[in-house]
Parts: sequence; C-alpha cells; structure tokens
Amino acid sequence: MKEERLPAAYTTMMREMLGQEADAFLESYTAPRTQGLRFNTLKSSTDTGRTAVRNTISLFGLKSVPWCSEGYYYEEPSRPGRHPFHAAGLYYIQEPSAMSAAGLLSPQPGETVLDLAAAPGGKTTHIAALMQGQGLLISNEIHRERAKILAENVERLGIPHALVTSATPGELAMRFPGTFDKIMLDAPCSGEGMFRKDPDAIDEWSPEHVAMCSSRQWDILQDAYIMLKPGGSLAYSTCTFNRKENEEIIARLTDSYPDMELITHKRLWPHLEKGEGHFVALLRKQMSEETGQGRNKRGTSGGRGKNDSKTNSSVRDAFQQFQSWAATELPGFSCQGVPLLFGDSLYLLPAAFNDRMHTGLLDGLRIPRAGLHLAHLKKNRIEPAHALAMALQSEQAFRRYDLAQDGPEVRAWFRGESLPAPSELHGWTLVTVEGLPVGWGKASSGQLKNHLPKGLRIM
Ligand code: SAM
Repeated sequence: MKEERLPAAYTTMMREMLGQEADAFLESYTAPRTQGLRFNTLKSSTDTGRTAVRNTISLFGLKSVPWCSEGYYYEEPSRPGRHPFHAAGLYYIQEPSAMSAAGLLSPQPGETVLDLAAAPGGKTTHIAALMQGQGLLISNEIHRERAKILAENVERLGIPHALVTSATPGELAMRFPGTFDKIMLDAPCSGEGMFRKDPDAIDEWSPEHVAMCSSRQWDILQDAYIMLKPGGSLAYSTCTFNRKENEEIIARLTDSYPDMELITHKRLWPHLEKGEGHFVALLRKQMSEETGQGRNKRGTSGGRGKNDSKTNSSVRDAFQQFQSWAATELPGFSCQGVPLLFGDSLYLLPAAFNDRMHTGLLDGLRIPRAGLHLAHLKKNRIEPAHALAMALQSEQAFRRYDLAQDGPEVRAWFRGESLPAPSELHGWTLVTVEGLPVGWGKASSGQLKNHLPKGLRIM
C-alpha cells in the first residue's frame, strides 16, 4: 500500500509523533501484513498435542514469535485456518503483535478474570490457556453477533471455565464491583494498526473518529476500574498508534484514580518488529483497607431475567441424568461446578463462580454460554454437547473413532457426512483427528452418524 492512500491528517500526526523514525514507520505500510497463530496449551501440552504441534510447525514452516512462546508466524499462501487441527482447537489464528497483551496481564490458574471486550476471542483464548482452564473467566462482548463468534471460539478451544456474556460494561459494573483479580480491556479503537490488514479501516479514520474512540475508551475504562479488586491488575490494549487512545487515556485514569498505578506499558511498532503493531499498558489498583478484597463475595439477586436457570429440582434431576450417563460414557471426566438448565441445555457453571459470587448476579444478563455446555436433554436420553467433546481429552471417552489428518474420511466428517464404523461400535463416540477431539458421532449398525453442529460443517 502506498503512503498516499493514508489520510493526510494521519501521516502528519505520525510524523509529529515519530520524527525521524516516521519514514521507516510509513514505509512499513508497503510491506505485506504479518500472519500468526498461537498454540492452545489447553490442547497442545499433552503428548498427543505435542505431536500435533510438531506436525503443524513443519507442515506450515512456522517461525517463532519472539514475545510469545506459543506464537508462530506463517506465510501466505499457507492456510492453517483450514486445517483439521484448527477445527480441533489446537491453535488460534492471531495477529502476532496482539499476542503480547495476555502475557503482560499474566492471569494465573484459579483467579477471577474478566475480558471486557472479548470478541472474536484472541485474548480470551490466550488468557484461558494461561489460567490452565482453572478459576473463572468472564468473557464479555457487547455486540450479540460477535458474542456468538466469541462463544464458538471458546468452545472450539475447549475452554471449560469461561462464561460468555453479552452486556454493556456498565451492566457488568453494576453487578461486579471490586470483583476481578485481573481485567483485560482490549478497547475498541481507531485501528491504525489494522490498515494493512483491512484497508476499509483507512476510510473510517479521521481526527473526529479518534476523539470519539478515546471518549468511548474512557467510559469503558472507568467501568473496568469499578470492577477491579483492590490489589488487582488491569491490562489496557489497542491496535492503534496515536497517543489520545493510548498514553493519554492511561494518564487520565491514573490522574483521576490515585489508587491506580501504571506498572509498565509497551508498544510494538510495525517498522521495528514483525507484527501489525500494538499498545499494552499494565496497571495495578492499590490495596485499600477501606474497601478490602472481595466485597462483592455474595451479591444480591438483580431480579428474574431471561437467562434464569430452571428450578432446583429439575436442574438436579437433569444433572443426575447426565452424571449417570457420564459415569459409563466418560469414565475419565469429572463434573466440578454448578449445573444450570436453560430449555433442554444443561451447562456447568465453573465451581469458582459459586464459591465467589451468587448466581443471582447473572439474572437478566444475556449469556450466550453459561460455562461448559454439557448436554441437551431429550425426553429420557442425553445428547452430549459439541462443547463437551471439545473440552475432553480423548482418553476420557469410553468410545473413540480416530481420523487421519489428511485422509478422505476427515473431509467427509467436516462436510457432515456419516462414516462407516466397525459393527461392534455402538453408541456415542468421540471423534478425534490424530487424537484431538473434533465432535460426536453416534455409532450403530456399522455407521457413525455425524453430530457436528450444522454451522461448523464445511461444504
Ligand atoms: N479482544 C478481542 C480479541 O482479542 O479477539 C478484540 C476486541 S476488539 C479490539 C474491541 C471489541 O470491543 C469489539 O469486539 C467491539 O465489538 C467491542 N466494543 C465496541 N464498542 C464497545 C463498547 N462501547 N463497550 C465495550 N465493548 C465495545
């Protein structure tokens, strides 16, 4: 892309900001965009996963991203997004600079973490992996359609401990003040680091748009502040370069809230590193004896809403039905959490949610995914959910059917076709590719009926 394609006000701003470096920066727009993928340690840290990682690295000629140990560059025309290992959640396609943010926040297993602007899920899936699937992750996306994509990615990567909500930051701040150990705010921004990838972002850019983004970021950041526990950390990131949406917003936060301390911030520049560019700041909220920790330990119910789970006895019955099914079908699977029933869908809310807050806090919230989706309950039978398959290790299922990554059967499977199966195989069967789960099939009379959700089939 030529420099002339960029708005004049933008190049002037960047020249003022970067001085002599500006030529090299603007020149970077003529280079091709960088592409990356990040391995999902929830899947890649088993023996099966490690073998698949080695295969993927050699198949696509991947090269390491210096600031993220699970991150790799790939070059076009490789299309790792179309490989069965992608469908198996072994990796997430993510712009390499964006891989810097979750590591700086450094979420730990067992913590209570919020990703406030989470779709499509790059940072959420990274955070979940760093938490090793333990604790509680609330991944929020204000826009409903984007929240669905986020929920799909959370499921594909087999994340067991995340709730996906679709709420405004204000709605969450009312319910969860002083709640989170760690918060990621990857703010909606003017996207100056997206210009190579998405030239439409150039047409949207103007000084007025930057001012609007900055004012919106300030609103969201104040809600993030409310939800952060004393002693907790907040990562604020953008994929834009101007100071108004980065340093100036952070300065406004630390000026307005003296208990917020800037720990560090870093910028990745496209002319200095191989990546599209990113800004990340890490802040800490000081401990306060007055507020103390966990003052929201037991919240009050916000009234009944459309996401209310069904009454206790029907939930208990459903969960018992699932547990007796799982006792034989999933001998290695342990159900730690609180069951919730929405229609015929049984979910497992992470145990950490119940330990730390009240399920009443969820009333009235839009929740595309209330934890791990376990099953659909059909009259007297269980239909295991796709999300459950994706959260399992293959050894946890009683019946398994493995496909080779490059055989004709795998393509038929992803088209939604039934497969021939050994006649002795009968019942729900975890379908895997090179040992990595990709969904359920139901075997009977020499056929494996395909239960891959219709929306995930590749025609
Ligand atoms: N963190 C995501 C990832 O790594 O995949 C990318 C997030 S993107 C930079 C910013 C998100 O903020 C978008 O999904 C957008 O829909 C959402 N958003 C837009 N307006 C918002 C608002 N007023 N409050 C909260 N989120 C908003």
